[in-house]
Amino acid sequence: MKITILGAGVVGVTSAYYLAKAGHEVTVVDRQPGPALETSFANAGEVSFGYCSPWAAPGIPQKALKWIFMEHAPLILRPKLDRAMLSWMFRMLSNCTSERYALNKSRMLRLADYSRLALAEVRADTAIAYDERMQGTLQLFRTEAQLEASAKDVKALAADGIPYEVLDPAGCIRTEPALAHVREKIVGGLLTPKDETGDCFKFTNALAKKAEALGVTFQWGVDIKALEVEGGTVKGVITGRGRMTSDAVVVALGSYSPMLVKPHGIRLPVYPVKGYSLTIPITDATRAPESTVMDETYKIAITRLGDRIRVGGMAEISGYTNDLGLARRRTLEHSVTDLFPGGDVTKADFWSGLRPMTPDGTPVIGATGVRNLFLNTGHGTLGWTMSCGSAKVLADIVSGHKADIETKDLAVSRYAA
Ligand SMILES: Cc1cc2nc3c(=O)[nH]c(=O)nc-3n(C[C@H](O)[C@H](O)[C@H](O)COP(=O)(O)OP(=O)(O)OC[C@H]3O[C@@H](n4cnc5c(N)ncnc54)[C@H](O)[C@@H]3O)c2cc1C
Repeated sequence: MKITILGAGVVGVTSAYYLAKAGHEVTVVDRQPGPALETSFANAGEVSFGYCSPWAAPGIPQKALKWIFMEHAPLILRPKLDRAMLSWMFRMLSNCTSERYALNKSRMLRLADYSRLALAEVRADTAIAYDERMQGTLQLFRTEAQLEASAKDVKALAADGIPYEVLDPAGCIRTEPALAHVREKIVGGLLTPKDETGDCFKFTNALAKKAEALGVTFQWGVDIKALEVEGGTVKGVITGRGRMTSDAVVVALGSYSPMLVKPHGIRLPVYPVKGYSLTIPITDATRAPESTVMDETYKIAITRLGDRIRVGGMAEISGYTNDLGLARRRTLEHSVTDLFPGGDVTKADFWSGLRPMTPDGTPVIGATGVRNLFLNTGHGTLGWTMSCGSAKVLADIVSGHKADIETKDLAVSRYAA
């Protein structure tokens, strides 16, 4: 089949790789001059198959109220009279119940665990390097309340058979030796040892080259304007360079996916949740993390990527803007220097990206009401983690094969229910 993939972030490129491997003739189109130059560029680098939770959780509405008054708040709300924003926030809040949390989390864990296997397969097939490490994620608790609240996550991990360890401060230091310098700030931790880390930009670029070797064509600097649908079937894509036709189209435009499909009756509840990162050169490796440490107080992930520390986080609901606020930079600097002052923050690269978030935290993968039009988008906080598994199930769905995991509840039709 001739397939056009719209978007060359980590989700579009992994989709291209798996569809090419399945024998399809694939073209990828993107407005940027190369792969992974938008949200997949400088994310926090966690490949968190185990530390994988929806943000819509019980207690979040109350916490959100407290965060309004916190100096280094993990959530920043800039409400606007924008229907898409308000409706997304309402739906997100309605997912903050225990039942919805458990359902959404188990879906995310299913896909993330499948992605663990798929990423290992891609590594074995391609031998690409991307500053990868396999040393787990340590969720770090600074208060007893945080430690107690982690009980519900422990329960979900146990139920899904995901390995984990609850650690006391000494255990945290054994896992991340640099924490010995800040022993008094730690109450405990939750380690998910199967988690990995790696540079999503490096990975996506290296995989794009492997995909090219499999026959994938990339078209760079092309603006995607509209879909051409006739008689309920997608026929082509209208771009700034003209019309493209193919047998099937996959939309992997991250936060920009909803606008393209809306004129064709597909209501895709994906909204941009902005996050920030700093990439810091390491000057003292003894005070740098070994893997990912998730600072639960600020909801900030601090990750080792080769000779750099990547610190990323914050959720800013402010629409489609990539502005860089200095206050956000200070929050990242505060969190990283408080625990791991082994880098030179004055030489850090500051960046922001728009997470394509669904209200239930689960991506949207599969067929739509328009024939031959498929979605692989809405990966929110964990698109790097879930990319390979999402691409593999997408390739099965497009090829008409049964996927290895349940995918019915990943499709956009789940929102119609
Ligand atoms: C601060 C931060 C930290 C994060 N940390 C992690 C983490 O540690 N682990 C993790 O798993 N995930 C993390 N994420 C999430 C992850 O980065 C995203 O889920 C993932 O990058 C989304 O990939 P994507 O391919 O769907 O979107 P994108 O990377 O945004 O790709 C979409 C592509 O579509 C193209 N495009 C859009 N519109 C058009 C158009 N009209 N015409 C042509 N091209 C278009 C864009 O150029 C872009 O290349 C983080 C995100 C942020 C912001």
